[in-house]
Amino acid sequence: MKYKINELFETIQGEGSFTGQPSIFIRLQGCPVGCSWCDTKHTWEIELDDKVTPQAMLTKTQETSKWASFSADDMFALVKEKDFRAKHIVITGGEPCMVDLTPLCQLFEQQGYSTQIETSGTFEINTTEKCWVTVSPKINMRGGYEILASAMSRANEIKHPIATEQHVDDLKSLLAQYNVKETAIYLQPISQKKRATDLAIETCIANNWRLSVQVHKYIGIE
Ligand code: SF4
Repeated sequence: MKYKINELFETIQGEGSFTGQPSIFIRLQGCPVGCSWCDTKHTWEIELDDKVTPQAMLTKTQETSKWASFSADDMFALVKEKDFRAKHIVITGGEPCMVDLTPLCQLFEQQGYSTQIETSGTFEINTTEKCWVTVSPKINMRGGYEILASAMSRANEIKHPIATEQHVDDLKSLLAQYNVKETAIYLQPISQKKRATDLAIETCIANNWRLSVQVHKYIGIE
């Protein structure tokens, strides 16, 4: 099986429960969900004309919609070749759950890595049992996709982007709809805006939820 990869790089995870963890990010191309504030819009479309060689994808100097085809084995070989030291794999997008992530996670887990996926919760999640699943539910977005009950029940953490009271209300309705009680809930202010951050802090304290502030953006790393 081949995956369409937009980026593969080593950095520090800046969000959610794994904040601060050295991680290898694998960014898949393709997402139809259509969030207006999406900060990876270049990953939305999968154009055959944008297919490039693995080397060309790896040496991109700016965010583009160019992608390259990799098998799980190709990715593992690349991680070894680049001598990446992180032992945590983060599979993101785009929307990574448009494809089966099981072979990819399985291979890295067999080699002693931990795995994590970040998904909008709008596609069935196909991954290993051990994989840490971060659902960042994208409610009422332009693409018209519903949040799946199966995604909400599989989530190890729920990380909700917020900027307004409406976003908080949307999350509360979703949690009530799926009777979510035990899962860790993070609020993540959209675009580091002060108003969004103040609202997130206030709402986290009121509900005993956690704050996720996209540390990588504050310290200026990828
Ligand atoms: S689900 Fe993620 S990648 Fe897709 S549009 Fe929303 S924020 Fe962007």
